[in-house]
Amino acid sequence: MDTRHVVVIGAGIVGASIAWRVASRGARVTLIDQNEPGSGASSHSFAWINAGAKEPVGYHNLNRRSLEMWPRFADALDEDVGLRWGGKVAWEADPEAARALVSRVEQLQSWGYPSRLVSREELQELEPALNVGVVAAADYNENEGQVEPQLVVDACLNRLAELEASVLSNVEIIGLRKDSHDRIGSLQTTAGDMDADLVVVAAGTATTAVAAMAGVNVPQAESPGVVIRTTPMPPLLYNVPVVYVPPLEDGRREIHLRQCPDGRLMIGEGDQESLAEDDTQAHADDLLARACQHLPGLEGASAVPVPVGWRPMPLDGYPVMGFAPQAPNLYVALTHSGVTLAPVLSQLAALEICDGARADTVLGPYRPERFAGVTPETAAQMAHPRARHR
Ligand SMILES: Cc1cc2nc3c(=O)[nH]c(=O)nc-3n(C[C@H](O)[C@H](O)[C@H](O)COP(=O)(O)OP(=O)(O)OC[C@H]3O[C@@H](n4cnc5c(N)ncnc54)[C@H](O)[C@@H]3O)c2cc1C
Repeated sequence: MDTRHVVVIGAGIVGASIAWRVASRGARVTLIDQNEPGSGASSHSFAWINAGAKEPVGYHNLNRRSLEMWPRFADALDEDVGLRWGGKVAWEADPEAARALVSRVEQLQSWGYPSRLVSREELQELEPALNVGVVAAADYNENEGQVEPQLVVDACLNRLAELEASVLSNVEIIGLRKDSHDRIGSLQTTAGDMDADLVVVAAGTATTAVAAMAGVNVPQAESPGVVIRTTPMPPLLYNVPVVYVPPLEDGRREIHLRQCPDGRLMIGEGDQESLAEDDTQAHADDLLARACQHLPGLEGASAVPVPVGWRPMPLDGYPVMGFAPQAPNLYVALTHSGVTLAPVLSQLAALEICDGARADTVLGPYRPERFAGVTPETAAQMAHPRARHR
């Protein structure tokens, strides 16, 4: 691979991490974003670093490997990126939901994952400020954590500046020009044309449209999500940064919450992949009221609504990583759970881009080729069951 000039399209947590890793290897890098870096899906993320919610076991292991890489990744970024550990707790009041929680813990334990059942007393010890109510079963994944995606993107940009890479904000890629060997020779941007030896497409939900400019099929599903914030509060959650609170009897789904290092709380409804589009103040107030029932110390906080965020969501839900056969110098990097996965995916992308290696043992199931024959008619068959088919 010719890596004299690598252009990375998209400065979210995935693109910024790849740009930094590749520039660290000595390549000349230009990172381009049509908006401000970090303002895409990365700014809407709940940013829970986990592998406990990931299946099947191969994908679980990929997430777990990345989770375990986070401390070194953050150290190398050499700034406080808000990385905090402490685990995740969840509990269920309903007996049927409790049985599902127990079997999930058993499955994770069979994979050697540090998930375990805890008693009501231990749950209360872990988080004394929680008002847990009825506990039919509770679990604790002690190795999970949280991070602040914008701080990660900012740190990548700072390291890129030291490496004399170029970062262009508010510049959109509007075309990719191929040469006679199907390689991308230049990019058309709203700031003029730019030559490139290698192009990385890490444009989040726009990856489908950008890759299509080179004839590469990267279908996605629609996956809207809403995570609200509160005004800053004194420390309320001490040991466990991420808490899942059971659903209500009226059918409203569970909520998840975490406290950011600056004291704000983030609250979302359902789980990490639930579809949600209500970004009204009334819904934000309702989420806060429900969180207050379980965390009374939140009384006095105000709910700050956040516009709906769109998760980058490959059609089948799994990452799309690798060179595209239709454009051999175009590398696709599209994933859900990009916050958890940024350390491992950026490392493997740099390996493949800079060394010409093929990390097939890990990335084999996630190659762009799997979508080559997929048409709009056949797409529904491989669609991720939790996402809306476009
Ligand atoms: C509500 C919600 C909750 C989530 N919770 C979690 C969680 O708890 N844990 C977890 O691991 N993950 C979570 N995720 C997923 C995670 O946030 C994403 O996988 C990750 O942020 C994706 O990063 P990215 O860099 O690929 O995309 P983005 O952050 O979207 O970055 C892509 C960038 O590309 C730019 N771009 C697009 N088109 C062009 C163009 N033509 N030219 C130039 N630039 C372009 C955009 O402006 C954007 O900045 C959540 C996501 C959402 C929305």
